Amino acid sequence: MEQKIHITLRFNLAIGKVNLNEIVYRLKELQNPLMLEILKTILMGYDDIISERLSRTDIYPSKARKGLGRHIRKGDPEERFCRGRKISKRGYRSKPRRFSTVFGRLDLPLRRAQCLNCGAFYSPLLSALHVGRYARKEMNFEHEVIEAVIDTNYRRLIDGRSIDISLGGIDNIVVGSDIDETFQEPVSTEDLSAILADGTPVKEHQGRKGELRNVIGISKAGRVEPLGCFTNTPWPEIERIVKERIKEAQSYNIPFVYDGEPGLDDFLSDVAESQRCTWHGPRGLYHSLWQDGLKKKDSQPETDKIKELIGIELPEGEFEILKEEDKQQVKTKYETSKSEIKELIKTFREKGYKHGAAYLENLSNRLFTNIELWLKTGVIAPKTTSLLERVFREIGRRLKKIAWGWSDTAVTNISKMIMIRQYSRDKWERYWKEKLGIKGYFNIEISSVKLSPGTHF
Ligand SMILES: [Zn+2]
Repeated sequence: MEQKIHITLRFNLAIGKVNLNEIVYRLKELQNPLMLEILKTILMGYDDIISERLSRTDIYPSKARKGLGRHIRKGDPEERFCRGRKISKRGYRSKPRRFSTVFGRLDLPLRRAQCLNCGAFYSPLLSALHVGRYARKEMNFEHEVIEAVIDTNYRRLIDGRSIDISLGGIDNIVVGSDIDETFQEPVSTEDLSAILADGTPVKEHQGRKGELRNVIGISKAGRVEPLGCFTNTPWPEIERIVKERIKEAQSYNIPFVYDGEPGLDDFLSDVAESQRCTWHGPRGLYHSLWQDGLKKKDSQPETDKIKELIGIELPEGEFEILKEEDKQQVKTKYETSKSEIKELIKTFREKGYKHGAAYLENLSNRLFTNIELWLKTGVIAPKTTSLLERVFREIGRRLKKIAWGWSDTAVTNISKMIMIRQYSRDKWERYWKEKLGIKGYFNIEISSVKLSPGTHF
């Protein structure tokens, strides 16, 4: 059904004085209020059409009432829908319904109707617009709030738009999001080159300290595949949830990279091969040797040595077309490093560095997983958690900037949102389009803009 809106704008222009900037400046101020007026006009017009069709059953066939007039039957304890579609108009509600929209606050007068079948009073516009009984904001607004929180510029969103949303309101939007139930499609290990997991401290409500834990996959193409964000959740619980998302594949040849947190030693062990983050190796050794009573200057040569033994560079280029001697070189270095680490463990034992020896022994089993994998399959897997640390830094920066205490759910949800928006942009956009229900049922265009005759001479 085509309709038209006529807009009359009145302006004064100081001839010979005004400049371009001032014109643009004032027009910019007009944007949101103008959109609000247009929105209100369209909605009130729609309300009139709906009421007309529902009340004039003598004129309109039942086909014209399709999708209109849905309401809950009066006094039905089970809240079932009434089948009555004939109303009598009962004026307007005493108070307009207030909505938060992207353009600002909308106070919308709502028509009231009485069902001639059950006698219930209701506002037919709300159900026609798919607005719930208690909804006070539209979804584009929610979308913008979330985008603004992710970009940490929510202040700019609120200022100058007469949007009144408290920080608590933003928290509610984040907590109420269904992000938790979405993005759960299974991931195949065949598409992954590694799985990474790590934790980072976060400040929560009333200064409570919490831990955000994150598991990501790295696809063979080097993309981040978020596998799960968790707040104050034990690792075994996280493992169970992540496992549910991983499709069983034939071989579990991918490394699991972590920084040596004890809770992660056997994490996903039937899906991936554990590998200590090679960056944390030397640091961990330093710590163990310190426990054995070594000063930094005495442990330095040992940690340097480990750094060197770990740092095996893989040759660039396609594995299949690499010369056999290039592979041989890696293999030789790998074998030497392994035996040198064994030597070192022996030396540590002889010197009585109990902690150092134990640490190195534990480390050596998991240090070269990526090399072994490469030698076997040619897949280059990441050997540090630095990527995950970068992800954490991005999340942390946002959580910190939003200077109020988050709840567990808020931290988890916002982290998921940041992850998905950052690393699966296309999925993020699809998610919102679906949520907003954009299906081509409303189109609008500017048909003409012209100056009224007689106002200029
Ligand atoms: Zn009814």
